[in-house]
Amino acid sequence: MLKQERYQHFVDYFSKNQPDAVTELHYGNPFQLLIAVILSAQCTDKRINQVTPALFERFPNPAALAASTPEEVFTYIRSVSYPNNKAKHLVGMAKMLSEVFHNEVPSDIDQLQKMPGVGRKTANVIASVVYDAPAIAVDTHVFRVANRIGLTTNARTPLAVEKQLVEYLPKDTLAIAHHWLILHGRYICVARSPKCEVCPLTWFCKYYARTHTETALLKAEALKVKKVKDAKKKKNLDKMSKELKKRSVG
Ligand code: SF4
Repeated sequence: MLKQERYQHFVDYFSKNQPDAVTELHYGNPFQLLIAVILSAQCTDKRINQVTPALFERFPNPAALAASTPEEVFTYIRSVSYPNNKAKHLVGMAKMLSEVFHNEVPSDIDQLQKMPGVGRKTANVIASVVYDAPAIAVDTHVFRVANRIGLTTNARTPLAVEKQLVEYLPKDTLAIAHHWLILHGRYICVARSPKCEVCPLTWFCKYYARTHTETALLKAEALKVKKVKDAKKKKNLDKMSKELKKRSVG
């Protein structure tokens, strides 16, 4: 299957079945989304949604957060991953937002990345979700799922994945494709054991083809038989050694 065809099937499937995919992070405005995305690095959206209501209430705007201290912010986010660093980043980000960007979350990816705690992934999320820019953020789910399906080839870094996705996906699907890949990775194409048995993408997924071809299945079967034989062999050896011990004691 040609790469373009695979992309076509991917876009067709999700456009039809998940035309309204959105982020699972709760937020009410760009400032809140920026906070939530910074907090979500290496943490689950579910956990972030538990801490943000109180945080948003205490710090309703950049000025309020900028006037606070990392120590105070820490008390609101202690249950998320890396709370110390993230508390520092949030205060630093808010200071820059109010002092440099006049309380407006910038739309430019380079400008966004000037703020503490904002890397390329976060900047792409803001640009695409808030400003509908043709950008795609690559997190661990996007990276893994794009590679498995075969949307990317030999892409070893998030930036390489991003470049290939930007090259092949239609511009108007870039923003939503981020959510398609994340949600698929979160619920079906999970990291350890992808749930291929319930996945609707098997017929064009490269990983599935590789792991479910006749040869792959034969190899897996042979391995299973070998394991059973090894287990039997081990059982016999254990039995023999017990028997020998008994005799030597007697
Ligand atoms: S078929 Fe399996 S590996 Fe491929 S996308 Fe679906 S769950 Fe992931």
